[in-house]
Amino acid sequence: MPSDESPGPSVTSNTSSATEQISDIERYSRQVLFPGIGAAGQQRLAEAHVAVIGCGAMGAASSSLLARAGVGTITIIDRDFVEASNLQRQVLFDEDDARQSLPKAEAARRHIARFNSGIRVHSQIADLVPANIAELLAPANILLDATDNFETRYLINDYAVREAKPWIYAAAIGAYAATMNILPGSSAAEYTPTACLACIFPKPPSGNVETCDTAGILSTAVNLAASVQVTEALKYLTGQPHLMRRTLLSFELWNPATGARLEQAEISAATPRPDCEVCGQRIFTHLAGKNRAHITLCGRDSVQIHEHHRPVDFAAMRTRLAAHADIQDLRSNDLLLRFRRGPHTLTLFPDGRAIVQGTTDVMLARSLYARFIGS
Ligand SMILES: [Zn+2]
Repeated sequence: MPSDESPGPSVTSNTSSATEQISDIERYSRQVLFPGIGAAGQQRLAEAHVAVIGCGAMGAASSSLLARAGVGTITIIDRDFVEASNLQRQVLFDEDDARQSLPKAEAARRHIARFNSGIRVHSQIADLVPANIAELLAPANILLDATDNFETRYLINDYAVREAKPWIYAAAIGAYAATMNILPGSSAAEYTPTACLACIFPKPPSGNVETCDTAGILSTAVNLAASVQVTEALKYLTGQPHLMRRTLLSFELWNPATGARLEQAEISAATPRPDCEVCGQRIFTHLAGKNRAHITLCGRDSVQIHEHHRPVDFAAMRTRLAAHADIQDLRSNDLLLRFRRGPHTLTLFPDGRAIVQGTTDVMLARSLYARFIGS
């Protein structure tokens, strides 16, 4: 007699398929067939560690490509959380992440675990600064730039040149994408050094720099730069740095103002500039700099408050904030505490860092922080 308690065959088979190991042989079979990778290259990827700095559109695309390719360990560093306006281009995130305001590094780690549980992902919810750069980046074989600002890129360049660690610049704005491999020299390096970022651009761009806030951004431009960036990283990680591009490569995919259809440009970055302050004279001003205090965040109408490095007790903070009559939507989890006060939303991270949304006025953001979180 059939019994209600006996498990049906479909239940049993679902349970087993949910826990069945996916074999690496099957997973990477098409990539191993490619002669540039092969079985030996795939093994090298499994042993590699890549750091992705920033997990906006570029970082989400690059991390996803690295993870699917089987890079064994990925460190993802990001200071921000997921918002609805990210979903147009940040391919690792979904609507639930935006509703929960999940930190991007952690959301990325969770999504990657769903399509490749065989690799390790370290999520670092932090702003990359001189004080933490060595700890965060030292274990990585190569560094991928997915930041949205030149200040961090010059910091990465200083560190990478000092430590002779390769890094790959990548940027996108509007329908424009650019990328460059930086292979710093050292006696142990298995390659001829290239120019560094400061060889090509001695100073960060000044004046009105366009951001995704002012120029908008096409998802396709970001993904193009990420694809080139990760391909170059795969060459390095599989022991083929001699096949890496030695140029600053840029694409204009679509420009209604100039009528550009698809323009590509390359300028040589093949050799270091002998009088370069960073790789020539080894003066690392960005590494020596103090932590950045406050910055406005690209496209966000937000200010980051950064100077208060001390752990925060979320439970105690919740109790204290609940006493304020003008505070609304107070909520917290292990990763962040958030509340709204008038037109401003404050998001606090466990290390004391905060993002104040609804203003680009640093003084106002500081005063809100001091009043509600502490000085
Ligand atoms: Zn240089």
